[in-house]
Parts: sequence; structure tokens; C-alpha cells
Amino acid sequence: MSNDTFLEPQPLGVPCPRCQRELQLKKGRYGLFVGCSGYPDCDYMTAADFDPGTDVSCPTCQHGKLVQKTSRFGNSFYACDQYPHCRFSVNLPPVAEACPKCGFALLLKKRSSNGERLICAQPECDYKSTVS
Ligand SMILES: [Zn+2]
Ligand SMILES: [Zn+2]
Ligand SMILES: [Zn+2]
Repeated sequence: MSNDTFLEPQPLGVPCPRCQRELQLKKGRYGLFVGCSGYPDCDYMTAADFDPGTDVSCPTCQHGKLVQKTSRFGNSFYACDQYPHCRFSVNLPPVAEACPKCGFALLLKKRSSNGERLICAQPECDYKSTVS
């Protein structure tokens, strides 16, 4: 036995780009890495500090993309990859659709007990889609 603290794989809440099963933060021989929870069926792995991109363009600076980040407290949020030039960030999964009410170029997916709905990413706008 070594003195290394054993690290249980931490679910990341992000689907594997290959098989859509959940990615996990794991500890291997060479340190932390992100691997697929479907291992050994799927051997996808990537660096532990990766930021899964969302393919959603930043609505404020237009040329950045939103990437998923994990805060120190373990919550995930989405921020512009042009940070620190652009400080746009949201704490709900972004959807690349314009708000039908104010025209802002981003909606957010909000989950509630009744289902999922899209809300406007602009805090001043109260647009909410019907629950799907
Ligand atoms: Zn996989
Ligand atoms: Zn931006
Ligand atoms: Zn709006």
C-alpha cells in the first residue's frame, strides 16, 4: 500500500464524445485524467484540465465559444473561452437560440420538477419557454 489517497472516479456530468456515457475524473499512474465511465468498452480519455466545449458562440463578444468549467465548489458553469478578455458566463447549459422576446443570442436550459424549459440568458429578460 502506498500513501496515496485513493480517489474514487468523480462523475463529471459530461457525456463521452465517443459513446455518450458519462465522463469521470480518474486517478491513474500518471496523475489525474478524464476517462469514460464505459471503460474498458470505451477507452476515451483526455487531460484532467480540459474544458469541454459546447459549440455555442459567446453572445457578447461573438467570436468566443462557451466552454464548461467546474468551479472550486464542484459546480459546473459555462464561460467564454476568450476569458479574461470576455467575462461572459452562465450557470445553466447554454442553447444556441435567440430569445424570441428580446433577441439576445442565447437561451439557457433550465430543469425543474415539471420538466425542462428554455429561459433567456439575459437576467433582465423574463422569457421562458413552455415546459417540454
Ligand atoms: Zn465513452
Ligand atoms: Zn465572449
Ligand atoms: Zn430575452
